[in-house]
Parts: sequence; C-alpha cells; structure tokens
Amino acid sequence: MLCLSVLFWKRFNRKRSFIMLDSLRWKKIPVLDDGFVCLVDVMGSDRAIVQAARVSYGEGTKSVSDDRTLLRYLMRHQHTTPFEMAEIKLLVRVPMDCWRQWIRHRTASVNEYSTRYSIAIDAAYSTEPDAWRTQSQTNRQGSGILLGTAAGQQLTNEEQAFHKQARDLYEHRIGLGVAREQARKDLPLSTYTEAYWKIDLHNLFRFLGLRMEASAQWEIREYATVIGEQIVKPLFPLSWEAFADYLLESVRLSKLEQEVIQRLALRGKVPATLDDFSAAQVPAWQNLERCRERDECLAKLQFLGIVKE
Ligand SMILES: Cc1cc2nc3c(=O)[nH]c(=O)nc-3n(C[C@H](O)[C@H](O)[C@H](O)COP(=O)(O)OP(=O)(O)OC[C@H]3O[C@@H](n4cnc5c(N)ncnc54)[C@H](O)[C@@H]3O)c2cc1C
Repeated sequence: MLCLSVLFWKRFNRKRSFIMLDSLRWKKIPVLDDGFVCLVDVMGSDRAIVQAARVSYGEGTKSVSDDRTLLRYLMRHQHTTPFEMAEIKLLVRVPMDCWRQWIRHRTASVNEYSTRYSIAIDAAYSTEPDAWRTQSQTNRQGSGILLGTAAGQQLTNEEQAFHKQARDLYEHRIGLGVAREQARKDLPLSTYTEAYWKIDLHNLFRFLGLRMEASAQWEIREYATVIGEQIVKPLFPLSWEAFADYLLESVRLSKLEQEVIQRLALRGKVPATLDDFSAAQVPAWQNLERCRERDECLAKLQFLGIVKE
C-alpha cells in the first residue's frame, strides 16, 4: 500500500513538473524597461539530483520525505556535485553594464548576440525620474538613498537626449558604410544585449546567492530575483527551499562575530544596547573611528535581535 502511494506521488510530481516546464518555456518574463528572462530548456529536476547523490549514499530509504531530507543535507554540508546534474538554459536581454557583472560568473556557457555581425539592438535601459540613486557613503560599490524626482527628472531628460544622440551617431556611421564592429564603439553601456546562458544548478545557486543579495546592484538583482523566484523555485522546489534556508536567507557568523555574541551572553546583555555592543566588540576594533567589519557585525546582530535598534 505504501509502495503504491509513493509510486502515485512520484508520477503525480513528474506530471506536475512537465506541466510547469511547458508553462514556463519560451515565456519572456519582463525585467527593467525592455529586458527579459526566458527559459529555453531544463535538464533534470530535484529527483535527478537525489538520484545522483544516492550513488554515493547507496539505496537507503527512498520515500518522498527522504528526498527532501537528502537535498537539505547536501545543501547544508556543501556536497555540491549532485546539484551539477541539473542545468537550465535561458535567453536573456540585459543592458550591457549589467551583463558585464553577469558574465563574470565563468562557470556558464554563453552565446551572445554579435554587434560585429548584426545591427546593435535598438533599445537602451532608461532610468525613471524617481529611480536615480545617490552614491553610498559607507560602501564605495553601492548606492545610498533615492535622489528625488526633481533632480531625477532632469537626469532622465538628459539621458534620453544622450541615448538618441548616441544611436543617431551609430546609425549615421552604419549609413556611411562603416564596419559594424567599429560603428558600435560609442554606444552606451545601457544598450541592451541578448544571450543564451546555460548553467548547472550548483553554479546557478552561487550566482543567485551573490546577485540576489541586498548589496548586489539593484538592476542585476532584478534579473537574479526573476530567475530564482519565477524559474528555479517552481522547477526545483525542494532544492530551492534548501538553498533559501541554508544560503540565501542564512546569516553567516565569523569567529570574531561569534566571540562578540559570547561576550554579550556571558555578561547577560542579550538583547544588548549599542553601548553593550560597543563594550563587547572585538578589541582590535575599539580604537577605530570607522570599521566596516564592525558595522557589518552590528547589522547582523541587529537583524538577529541580539542588539536592539
Ligand atoms: C559584491 C561584488 C563585487 C564585485 N566587485 C568586483 C570588482 O570590483 N571587480 C571585478 O573584477 N569583479 C568583481 N566582482 C566579481 C567577482 O570577483 C567574481 O568574479 C564573480 O562574483 C563571479 O564569482 P565566481 O568566481 O564565484 O563565479 P564563477 O566564475 O561562476 O566560478 C564559480 C566557482 O568556480 C571556481 N572557479 C571558476 N573559475 C576558476 C578559476 N579560474 N580558478 C579557480 N577556480 C575557479 C571558483 O570556486 C568559483 O567560486 C564582484 C562580485 C560581487 C558579488
């Protein structure tokens, strides 16, 4: 009886995966003002990962709940190779500055639209008046607050004029017979490009872990969130759940940070005030006026409720 219900459950899940795949494939999910992410193909499923893992762990138990337990174990203990048994292939349309960050993830196969061969895509990512951000004061690689619509409107107007001028110049060169490979050199980084991008689930989780993170640039985070939430999550629900629990939404504590918590706990100071935190901080941080590691430690402890706001 148990065997029959497990069999039924597996068949039901397999059918559900096919329906899910069909509803996602070739659907262009919009990102930014003219970009998209589109699932082209998938190889494997949660079951394929489990199947590969069982080669190392033997037959063992095989019930549905065991698949979930095994996937969570693999993710928790960074037994990563079984996740390489699944792959997804996407077609993406991305502004070139965002693509420049994306392409740094080397463990993917890429084939990009060629502007040596074809006319560059006539679309550039424009920033809405209310979406311009200030430079972060604490993170040289990040943004601060929103600039506001009054200043933003002027920046958007200037951007649109610049995009038009750059495009007109490009088309003027093409019209005069200049080679495409040379005519393109003054196109802005906001110009959209398109590429096929194929990656295994292990390396995709690395990409998503870095690019869905709050400190990643907002534009690439938009793409990563669509890929994660709208494609990977429905196709690999159990792996996604493990990834979210143990990587994406987890908080990693360094040895130094653990020692700060231990000092607070020993002194009975949890939840702690900012003064308590200051007294319990790492001795080497004490005399530093600015210390990024201390700021990060405080942010984690505040997030965990160990230090009060
Ligand atoms: C917040 C942030 C800021 C960044 N700032 C910069 C910057 O200022 N300048 C800049 O150039 N880049 C920057 N990067 C890009 C970053 O350095 C990585 O290139 C990018 O995140 C890809 O990560 P990865 O190497 O883990 O991914 P992949 O290239 O997909 O590699 C995955 C894993 O495979 C292994 N691997 C891949 N290739 C090799 C290799 N050749 N040798 C050994 N192991 C390999 C490694 O274990 C690696 O972690 C930044 C990234 C982030 C997230």
